[in-house]
Amino acid sequence: MRAQPKASHFINGAYVEDAAGDVIECIFPATGEVVAKLHSATPAIIEQALESAKAGQKIWAAMSGTERGRVLRKAAFIIEERNRDLSILETLDTGKPLSETLYVDATSGREALEYFGGLAGSLTGEHISLGQDWVYTVREPLGICVGIGAWNYPTQIACWKGAPALACGNAMIFKPSETTPLCALQVAEILHEAGVPAGVYNVIQGYGDVGAALVSDARVDKVSLTGSVPTGRKVYAAAAEGMKHVTMELGGKSPLIIFDDADLDNAVGGAILGNFYSSGQVCSNGTRVFVQKGIKEAFLARLKERTEQATMGDPLDEATNFGPMVSANQMNIVLGYIDKGIAEGARLITGGKMAQRDGFFIEPTIFADVTDDMTIAREEIFGPVLSVLDFDTEDEVMARANDTEFGLAAGVFTSDLTRAHRVAAGFEAGTCYINTYNDAPVEAPFGGSKASGVGRENSKEAINHYSQVKSVYVRMGDVEAPF
Ligand code: NDP
Repeated sequence: MRAQPKASHFINGAYVEDAAGDVIECIFPATGEVVAKLHSATPAIIEQALESAKAGQKIWAAMSGTERGRVLRKAAFIIEERNRDLSILETLDTGKPLSETLYVDATSGREALEYFGGLAGSLTGEHISLGQDWVYTVREPLGICVGIGAWNYPTQIACWKGAPALACGNAMIFKPSETTPLCALQVAEILHEAGVPAGVYNVIQGYGDVGAALVSDARVDKVSLTGSVPTGRKVYAAAAEGMKHVTMELGGKSPLIIFDDADLDNAVGGAILGNFYSSGQVCSNGTRVFVQKGIKEAFLARLKERTEQATMGDPLDEATNFGPMVSANQMNIVLGYIDKGIAEGARLITGGKMAQRDGFFIEPTIFADVTDDMTIAREEIFGPVLSVLDFDTEDEVMARANDTEFGLAAGVFTSDLTRAHRVAAGFEAGTCYINTYNDAPVEAPFGGSKASGVGRENSKEAINHYSQVKSVYVRMGDVEAPF
């Protein structure tokens, strides 16, 4: 199987190669097969990307918002037409089953381009009256934005960062995770086919050092990172050095609270979606499932039964709904956490092992009797490991749910309407769910509080993070000076 792109980088509207860069192997996680070989960006490639972004941004920002929006919406249309091919590529890049990627990845990227393409023409300032005098504000682009992606949603992340950045008149240089280098190149190609001027959306490959070189360059005005909290700390600090704008979409250890009056099957469904979708490699997952003691055994029995119905297999087969970990490295990290869970006394309900097949598969794993101090209840695992913790009262569970440095997401299942809203109000998290889990529509802000992030992606909120406001004071009368 091959998924070799035309070249490693996309700069100034064209594919570019520099074979002097370190080799990046793209591995299909279901077999371990190398499907593409690319090169990390050399300093010369980084320089080309920055210079082309600088020139392209000026041309792009000079176009009207309506013109920019038309181009973004055209790109959305092309993505829709090529959904199957893009979904297969996403599956090869990440190992996620085609039964997911056909409906989630290119689709979500398309929706971002459609949504922000629709907003582009309506981005205006305001008029502020001061009696005779007045002020008007202008919403301006920031300039060159750098996007740095994690490996779990390569198409979506490239679009969630690119669409609002471009709608506001910025240029973007996107660096995918070296684990999943393929999809963002397609996004760049499609944007240019749709009419984005050369240099406005560039993709360069590389390891953390390439991201770090971009973040510290004086020509860069904004950095948007999707990644782990430790990387976020480094990137935020480097950006602060140059007083750059940032968006940080980082990790989580989110609580999902299930009260004993919840609809059992819906709650089980929420826990499955919030732990096993994309084999658990989702930042907002509700990995600490707090279940009220009255329904604990019924919940565990139904959860086990439904989890064991997962169809693990070739992700390119649409009957498969549970795929591998993205890499051998991630698989080993997750297996290490499973061993810790067992060693620290959690009760294994199902799973817990590598699957007996090629590739990086781990069985969907459920632990019960997990306590707040166990490693699996405190650290982000980023794999298919669900921990069930027991609780008695609402006050108790709220204190425990919020007792974490993270604040990305949180969910509650209950049939008590008042309690649902009280609990949502009490969550220390940026993205909350009532009787559902892990929805991320482009119309709603998405992001974390506490160590899970800074800023918001999606929705009109994202516009504030990719533009700045200039105030222009206008005096209609004479200037009064003291001397
Ligand atoms: P990492 O933090 O390891 O890497 C994220 C990106 O940052 C990669 O492209 C990485 O490059 C790059 N990078 C690493 N070091 C630096 C540096 N010093 N300067 C600039 N860039 C750098 O995350 P993963 O790729 O392992 O992704 C998993 C993490 O992402 C999880 O914690 C998950 O929760 C989080 N995530 C958050 C989401 C959100 O929206 N809140 C969504 C999806 C994931 P390289 O890979 O080459 O090292």
